[in-house]
Amino acid sequence: MAKSRFEYVRQFESQNLLLPQTYIVVRIDGKKFHEFSKFYNFNKPNDERALKLMNACAKNVVLTYKTDMILAFGESDEYSFILKKDSQLYNRRYDKLSTLIVSLFTSNYVHLWPKFFPDVQLSPKHLPFFDSRCVCYPNIATIKDYLSWRFVDTHINNLYNTVFWQLIQVCGMTNQEAEDKLSGTVSSEKQEILFTDCKINYNNEPEMYKKGSLITKKGELLHIDVIKQIDELFKGFE
Ligand code: ATP
Ligand code: ATP
Ligand code: MG
Ligand code: MG
Ligand code: MG
Ligand code: MG
Repeated sequence: MAKSRFEYVRQFESQNLLLPQTYIVVRIDGKKFHEFSKFYNFNKPNDERALKLMNACAKNVVLTYKTDMILAFGESDEYSFILKKDSQLYNRRYDKLSTLIVSLFTSNYVHLWPKFFPDVQLSPKHLPFFDSRCVCYPNIATIKDYLSWRFVDTHINNLYNTVFWQLIQVCGMTNQEAEDKLSGTVSSEKQEILFTDCKINYNNEPEMYKKGSLITKKGELLHIDVIKQIDELFKGFE
């Protein structure tokens, strides 16, 4: 095709390349999902339908890019996709990777919504959208720590949220009272409050809530102790 005299404007485009030989994490996160979850009456603190919808979207992303993926991990409104360090996907262009993964995830979310929320219509004024970032991790130790960080975050958030909402829903506390009661408590104290005040043993909570969701490169869904199995998970990807 003949080039026009306007072609020069392409020179203003900058190409951001992700460092070679580093593990790439693309993390997506729902925009204003606190509000979104309120609008669609998600069960608190964990709406099972919403988590399963997230997992189904992530699985489709993983399977689309399976030759480049190591695994994906998700909790709440976020998912991390971990790519092999020698991946040449989109020549490691930051914007291609970030935008294509997040838009594929989002289109799946909208497409699969009716399967998981058959009685709830998506409102055009409250459509789901997600942000996305790419981060490079230089070695196997830091990528293992990255995954462990998200796993521990899942645990900390879920324990807090489980006790917080039980104190409100079962013990009839106000948000402020529940917040005050939990302020400054460590993990074991929260579990104790849950047990004595709400008669709930945290160990019996669903695995998906406690451990988050891990998707293998084959698309298998697991709810496992990531930290215990961290070496296993990256075997062969070093
Ligand atoms: P931002 O746009 O900055 O990400 P946000 O409102 O999405 O803001 P997050 O820190 O991402 O804030 O937290 C997501 C929130 O979405 C959770 O705190 C929770 O209120 C809600 N949420 C997400 N998934 C679920 C779920 N499966 N069940 C119930 N609530 C959920
Ligand atoms: P890439 O993934 O690199 O963007 P691509 O196949 O999307 O590859 P583009 O240069 O973006 O390539 O071109 C988009 C192509 O999509 C067009 O060449 C055309 O074949 C097709 N296309 C897009 N919009 C229309 C349309 N409205 N009607 C018919 N064909 C269309
Ligand atoms: Mg955020
Ligand atoms: Mg969010
Ligand atoms: Mg989030
Ligand atoms: Mg195109």
